[in-house]
Amino acid sequence: MNKAEKLLFGTAGVPLSTNPRDTVNAMKRLRELGLDAMEIEYVRGTFPGENKARLIASVAQEQNIRLTAHGPYYINLNADDPEKLKNSRKRILKTAFFGGLSGAESITFHAGFFLQQDPVKVYRRISKELEDLVVEIKKMDVDIDVRPELTGKGSQFGSLEEILNISKDVEGIKPCIDWAHLHARSGAFNTAAEFLTVLDTVRETLGEEALKEFHMHIAGIEYTAKGERKHLNLDESDFNYKELFRVLKDNGVCGFVICESPSLEEDALILKNYYEKI
Ligand SMILES: [Zn+2]
Repeated sequence: MNKAEKLLFGTAGVPLSTNPRDTVNAMKRLRELGLDAMEIEYVRGTFPGENKARLIASVAQEQNIRLTAHGPYYINLNADDPEKLKNSRKRILKTAFFGGLSGAESITFHAGFFLQQDPVKVYRRISKELEDLVVEIKKMDVDIDVRPELTGKGSQFGSLEEILNISKDVEGIKPCIDWAHLHARSGAFNTAAEFLTVLDTVRETLGEEALKEFHMHIAGIEYTAKGERKHLNLDESDFNYKELFRVLKDNGVCGFVICESPSLEEDALILKNYYEKI
């Protein structure tokens, strides 16, 4: 990631008010709205052609929009079925390849599921897979951050500790912090003091530098004892985004803020406007 000097606010996918609604037009729409970033969504497993990807990169540059990419939902680096594992690897490699070609600086994805196995064993397995993937991505000559996401359910690999430890243990891996997921896992992490403990843990585990190149997701969220249920608009949720952004500003955190609320650009703008007023 090219270091951002500040927080860059953007949408998870094409803003709803883009017309016609495609990735190239999205960049112009984001600029009109006064947003700075977008996450390209490969979540359904479809990728652009190479020419389209290059076009996206050039329009992004023209409009000064910074990009990240989200890999397909169907990824499990802990899959027992060799075919499923192979396809999961392929989907991450494609996300890096087409993301890189489109000018994205960082990719994120949900790394896998526990399948009721020993968490220590799963951690080791996913670490090994990520280690290999980082090597493969380098071989493709793609320069992009590889960031497994903090996930919203205990059945998925990706607690705060797992994501930070794997970023420390595996060279080339960095975290993607999803604040809504972190909150949904337990109902905690919704006060200034708790947000600050997250930043302190990041600082202790990965160094101050990690705070200068965050890739984060945010949305309102509905959750149960099992974790994430669905994303909500910020004002329909209990998420204390104001305290979060005060803590982020106090600590000089920089990087991508990708808004995943149903009302994508509206909430992204609420966050950006609030942050700038602090
Ligand atoms: Zn995600």
